[in-house]
Amino acid sequence: MPSITFGPIQSRRFGISLGVDLSPYKKQCNFDCVYCELQPVKAPESKTTSKFSEILPLDELLDSVKQSLKQHEEIDVLTITANGEPTLYPYLKEFIVGIKPYIPKKTKSLILSNGSLFGDKNIQEALKEFDIVKFSLDSVLQSSFKKIDRAHKGLMIDDIKDGIKSYANIRKNILICEVLVVKNINDNDKDMKLIADFLREIKVDRIDLGTIDRPPAYNVKAVDYDKLIELSKIFDGLFISLPQRKNINIEKLINLDDKEILNLLQRRPIAINEIENLFSKNSIERFQKLFNNGIIKIKNTGLIDFYTL
Ligand code: SF4
Repeated sequence: MPSITFGPIQSRRFGISLGVDLSPYKKQCNFDCVYCELQPVKAPESKTTSKFSEILPLDELLDSVKQSLKQHEEIDVLTITANGEPTLYPYLKEFIVGIKPYIPKKTKSLILSNGSLFGDKNIQEALKEFDIVKFSLDSVLQSSFKKIDRAHKGLMIDDIKDGIKSYANIRKNILICEVLVVKNINDNDKDMKLIADFLREIKVDRIDLGTIDRPPAYNVKAVDYDKLIELSKIFDGLFISLPQRKNINIEKLINLDDKEILNLLQRRPIAINEIENLFSKNSIERFQKLFNNGIIKIKNTGLIDFYTL
């Protein structure tokens, strides 16, 4: 049987992460996203499902994760994921409650979900047990949602939104949203504005804006980094994290004076670990000086430090 745990790997946004796969036998998901990087489900099985048909026994899962935690004590996060959607695992709450006493104090528990079942009360009970819940949301428009996430029949984006909102209202842990931009589907102002409005309303701690990074399931394309920067401006006032820029082009780095930095921070906070992707050396020094002089602040939200006013 394939391994239940994997890693540790270095994650830029979460630190050293040990992964746990709740569906190690095969892909089991209620979405069939165009950008999915997992091995697709083989015909004649349906590409999506509303429940796991092959279920990892809870004691086997707990034993395996306990064993891995013993071997890797220095991890920052224990990341619960699946070859598919982890909230479909029927013993999610039992698992997180059972493993908690074995997670080192400095290590956080994180679940990566597509958010589709956040309205389910039992799943909410499980989600509450994690330190960090990260969900994906690629569009709040049914037309784009259908094109990108290709959800199991009956899953409608308005219901999913309601579910996410209801969880956001009761949660006390960190809530992060990942928005994945696909060329010619949701890379437009309308889609992004509606997502931004929704995330503002539910008050997420952080938004990770990204695009396709690894070979996708379908023939779809990523947008370039400049497009992501342009779209990120729509998320005014929110704590937004961009991916690492590949091949930094020094000529494209922006030069800002103090006034421009303050104007920018009035619109949106900037993640400190990303300023090298965006700004010239001189501007970075200005950020630092403004901070040293108490004119701007550093706020840690969703585990990342941001410059803000
Ligand atoms: S929700 Fe995740 S696992 Fe499921 S199809 Fe989409 S990317 Fe793949």
